Amino acid sequence: MNALNTHDDLIISVSGVRGVVGSALNPSLLTHFAAAFGTLVEGQTVVIGRDTRTSGPMAHHAILAGLVATGCKVIDVGICPTPTVLLMSKILTADGSLVITASHNPIDWNGIEFASQSGKLLNEEERTRLMSIYESGNFTLAAWDEQGSVETIDTAIDQHISSVLGCDWLIPECIHARKLKVVIDCGNGAGSVISPRLLRALGCDVIELNCVPDGYFPRPAEPTSEALDQLCTAVKSEDADLGLAHDGDADRLVLVSEEGTPLSSEYTFALAAEFLLNKRKGDIVATVSTSRMLDDVANRHSVKLHRTPVGVGFVVEKMRETGAVIGGEGTGGVIYPELGYTTDGIASIAAIVQLLAESTATISEVITSFPNYAICKEKLEVPSQEIAHVLLEEVVETYAHENLDLTDGVKRIWGDRWVNIRKSGTEPVLRVFSEARTTEEAKTLCDSTLETLKSLMTQIVGY
Ligand code: MG
Repeated sequence: MNALNTHDDLIISVSGVRGVVGSALNPSLLTHFAAAFGTLVEGQTVVIGRDTRTSGPMAHHAILAGLVATGCKVIDVGICPTPTVLLMSKILTADGSLVITASHNPIDWNGIEFASQSGKLLNEEERTRLMSIYESGNFTLAAWDEQGSVETIDTAIDQHISSVLGCDWLIPECIHARKLKVVIDCGNGAGSVISPRLLRALGCDVIELNCVPDGYFPRPAEPTSEALDQLCTAVKSEDADLGLAHDGDADRLVLVSEEGTPLSSEYTFALAAEFLLNKRKGDIVATVSTSRMLDDVANRHSVKLHRTPVGVGFVVEKMRETGAVIGGEGTGGVIYPELGYTTDGIASIAAIVQLLAESTATISEVITSFPNYAICKEKLEVPSQEIAHVLLEEVVETYAHENLDLTDGVKRIWGDRWVNIRKSGTEPVLRVFSEARTTEEAKTLCDSTLETLKSLMTQIVGY
């Protein structure tokens, strides 16, 4: 999340608001944000849905109050992944949508993600207007005879599954024939209500792990390699072909090999892009800090790879502009434009199992067609965002003679490695990400960059 405003327990960002429940994220704040959104969309049709967090019912009621009070016709699709809510907004041609989720944030967080007509992420002008309505408290409240309404529909999951099954790159009979055994770990998040069903519809032998949609997350909501021990063990003990895991709102997907090894989250987008480009030609869009594997995929298929600043909104914007056939981030979030301009962990399941079904290779064998890369992620605390800005300017000057990409911060690029230094949107830190052929090389690159930054900072702030 690129934050506009941050406290320890509240983040107001470009995509919405997130905070700690029972603290900053209280009913009053939620109602006010919903009323501001209802004012922005002028009391028209709004689709709402939520992930499985235990604070969901509280947030749901507080948000309904704000929407109905501003005259909105609310269509409530219930517990759903974020991409499902946005897809329903598109199918219903709604005027806006609102997802109650804190995505991959810890269990005690919740929040709202806003989107405008037909599930499009808010543009800058809409974001600015929403925040100014929220801050002014100047809501257009409806009179007694113009109150909004709430309609509940329970077909969102079916619609998402049938939309995925309708993708022209998916051949369910082919997957049925391969008889894949798959362990799916939804972390008791929103994926629980859809992903096991989709896998069964595709003819996989499905083993459910943490697929109880009760919001008690047995592992961190962010599916990092360290969080997937239970899944890795299950894949081994079940002798499965593949392990899959989502974050809390299932817009991300990460993979575990048949050997019970967690794959870097970078592989989801790289594999999906390789798979899709075998079906059709078109541009790819990735952020500057997404793996070089995407350059390799683009080169292999002779298509253009566009790099954007970090953030799904930037990727979506560039995809619309270029008509790209796929886009995404290294976090395991992949965008399939035929379904919607949002990261969709459910569609990613279909793409990955179809890819496996079309080959006799195991997932470990499939990834050997990609060169080995390792990514290192570090950060440097800085006294303020202003100093971070000055520091970045100094970095540009220092490396002016090199091959630099200034899309987001500074990215120094060599033939087989890169390092990106950029400002965090959420805290006064500089993020330093690097990628090289080995873990050691990537770490060395990060460390030497940190040393350079520290010495430049000493010159700037004088300590
Ligand atoms: Mg998410």
